Amino acid sequence: MIQIGLHHFGENVNKFEEELAHYVGIQNAAALSSGTAAIHMAFKALDLKKGDIVFCSSLTFSATANPIIYQNATPVFIDSERESWNMDPKALEKAFEKYPNPKAVIVVYLYGTPAKIDEIKEVCDRHNVPLIEDAAESLGATYKNKQTGTFGKYGIYSFNGNKIITTSGGGMLVSKDAEKIAKVRFWATQSREKERHYEHKEIGYNYRMSNIVAGIGRGQLKVLDKRIEQKTNIYNKYKEAFEDINEIEMQPMLKDSKPNHWLSVITLKEDSKVKPIDIMLALEKENIESRPVWKPMHMQPVFQQYDYIQIAERSVSEDLFERGVCLPSDTKMTQEEQERIITIIKNLFK
Ligand SMILES: *Cc1c(COP(=O)(O)O)cnc(C)c1O
Repeated sequence: MIQIGLHHFGENVNKFEEELAHYVGIQNAAALSSGTAAIHMAFKALDLKKGDIVFCSSLTFSATANPIIYQNATPVFIDSERESWNMDPKALEKAFEKYPNPKAVIVVYLYGTPAKIDEIKEVCDRHNVPLIEDAAESLGATYKNKQTGTFGKYGIYSFNGNKIITTSGGGMLVSKDAEKIAKVRFWATQSREKERHYEHKEIGYNYRMSNIVAGIGRGQLKVLDKRIEQKTNIYNKYKEAFEDINEIEMQPMLKDSKPNHWLSVITLKEDSKVKPIDIMLALEKENIESRPVWKPMHMQPVFQQYDYIQIAERSVSEDLFERGVCLPSDTKMTQEEQERIITIIKNLFK
């Protein structure tokens, strides 16, 4: 066939969608240009609009919340619990008392660690509100042997440069709802109607993943299990090394969950003389990168006007932000490098 040169074909895109859907165990997937685009499309598929409320984890990266604003809707931020650091189902229940009719709930799996998703889903189902899972950081993590991203109405993954597998940039929206996923593919390719000419009845987006990017994604998917194994080893090595330091606690995980351990994160006990900043500066001096825990969305200037629901007297997300440090967790890090990091940190407690 001689083409006019306007079309592009996406064999890898279709295949990457199929392979990712198969990996996580869901029927349908739409490959998109980013995880943020996937969240945006999930909200659009739910017809989120002005005046609608979305309950959203506060302790997350801003990309979870921004698409709520793209749709001119209103976020209400929800505090974390202490057992996985994710959305507290009890705080979520309290939010329903104050705002009985939200349009959606979006839960995040922080640093690749599964949330109390059974409880969260139960609350959503009882109130008949669709659940979106922001599994951008948790691809491959499971709760009761079921993949994060497959519990709710929509799940999203990210293949951004910093995630467990990467295509340099990209995302995926998954759902059991084939019709809605087809509709998302349509919106994501400029809402072009099936006509000989270019016909548009709806506003479109340039959100589709390119075929080259999808090709990289297919290769990356093959190394995902290996990456999870490496990340788990990194987490376990830190955990073991810090066992004799009373002031350090690792991010906890729920009994029935298997995190992908995208990042290894610690908190320092309230009474610890060593503070997060001391660890970050000591590592920085050796040219080693570390970071604070995500600054909660309700503390961000851009979201300050929105409500925040907590049940604990002390806001858990604020407390984790103050006491947390994300440690180097790159799979390219050698054993010796990780040991050096551990030594630098341990020396601060001497
Ligand atoms: C990375 C990330 C996103 C956004 O994904 P992009 O592909 O970078 O757009 C969304 N939510 C969370 C929690 C993330 O960590």
